Amino acid sequence: MNWDVFITCAITGSGDTAGKSPHVPVTPQQIADSAIDAAKAGAAVVHIHVRDPQTGKGSRSTELYAEVVENQVGARHVCTVATVTVMMPTTLDEALADRLAHPGALLLAGGTDVMVEINEGHRRLDTEAPTVIALGRVPELSTWTHDPVAGTFTIGAGVTWAEIEATPLAELVPALAQAARTVGSPQIRHAGTIGGNLATCSPAGDGLPVLAALDAVVHLAGGAGRRSLPIAGFMLGVKHTALLPDELIESVTVPLLDGWQGYSKVGVRNAMVIAVCSLAVSVDRESGTLRAAFGSAAPVATLVTAPLEEAGAFPELVAATASPIDDVRGSAAYRRHALRVLAARALERCLA
Ligand SMILES: Cc1cc2nc3c(=O)[nH]c(=O)nc-3n(C[C@H](O)[C@H](O)[C@H](O)COP(=O)(O)OP(=O)(O)OC[C@H]3O[C@@H](n4cnc5c(N)ncnc54)[C@H](O)[C@@H]3O)c2cc1C
Repeated sequence: MNWDVFITCAITGSGDTAGKSPHVPVTPQQIADSAIDAAKAGAAVVHIHVRDPQTGKGSRSTELYAEVVENQVGARHVCTVATVTVMMPTTLDEALADRLAHPGALLLAGGTDVMVEINEGHRRLDTEAPTVIALGRVPELSTWTHDPVAGTFTIGAGVTWAEIEATPLAELVPALAQAARTVGSPQIRHAGTIGGNLATCSPAGDGLPVLAALDAVVHLAGGAGRRSLPIAGFMLGVKHTALLPDELIESVTVPLLDGWQGYSKVGVRNAMVIAVCSLAVSVDRESGTLRAAFGSAAPVATLVTAPLEEAGAFPELVAATASPIDDVRGSAAYRRHALRVLAARALERCLA
């Protein structure tokens, strides 16, 4: 039987792909040959994606191919030879139904975090029934709305950094746009989404300090219905969130504050860099409050607030609240110092 197939083979350490044959009907032997070639060339991971041309759904039948590969190459040469069922919902309801039916499935948005984790072996698909739910075709996740009456701005989880860094979003939430401009490269920003950044919940995630400083609310949808969590309650620890196995992130709402806001990031170079530390600052004129949240200086982006009249002591307060670590990107002492400097510079701008 012929299937629509594409094979991607990640070569250890290089991130190169080989043997890619998008949607070409091939035979089991051709698939096996391709995978064997990739394994011999040093591929650590061979992903075989199969789609039934009749139904458009993924199929399990590549177990057959896996056997062929194992017989000829030996399993130890091929770390992953698996049939991956890829669900491609086209509405939010479909996505939720898929999520409920496959709670162990991997959610895939831009893939800029998750594919790196898989390629480096830090994350594995469920070995019994590896399933991916690709969210890229769900229009509800890719939209944003501005509610001028409520003074809020709601961004779908699938909105990309490229959209956030451009007008009109950049005018509504400038600090988030500034953070977006620091994310990876243009390619990463066109694929990577705010929902992926939230779900990964890296201490260095550039969107998270801004969302914390602006008091954002994360909207989740799942089997038990919908719920909303303040960002501080969503981020539970390093790469650990309150997201349940049957839930997905639908959107995030950011209150539009009356006051200055900005984001700055310290890195070991100017572009394509993970934050050594970062700081988002916003002024809430209505309540007379200074708000700041830092990244890469605690397990999660952490909020610090102070009355506007205590602005002079704010940089020290920010530095003292941080709990940074020493690592390859910088020492704890440097991070604390840099946060003090970033806070002082932000204050010069916002109080000018
Ligand atoms: C070269 C490179 C440079 C990078 N530079 C930066 C940088 O400077 N700053 C930065 O912050 N990040 C950076 N990243 C990381 C990454 O690009 C961002 O975190 C991005 O926002 C992830 O979004 P994504 O759509 O690609 O997520 P994916 O990789 O698709 O998914 C990430 C995680 O989120 C989950 N997920 C995705 N969507 C949802 C949803 N709707 N509901 C629930 N869970 C969901 C996935 O299951 C997965 O666990 C970089 C990555 C690369 C490869």
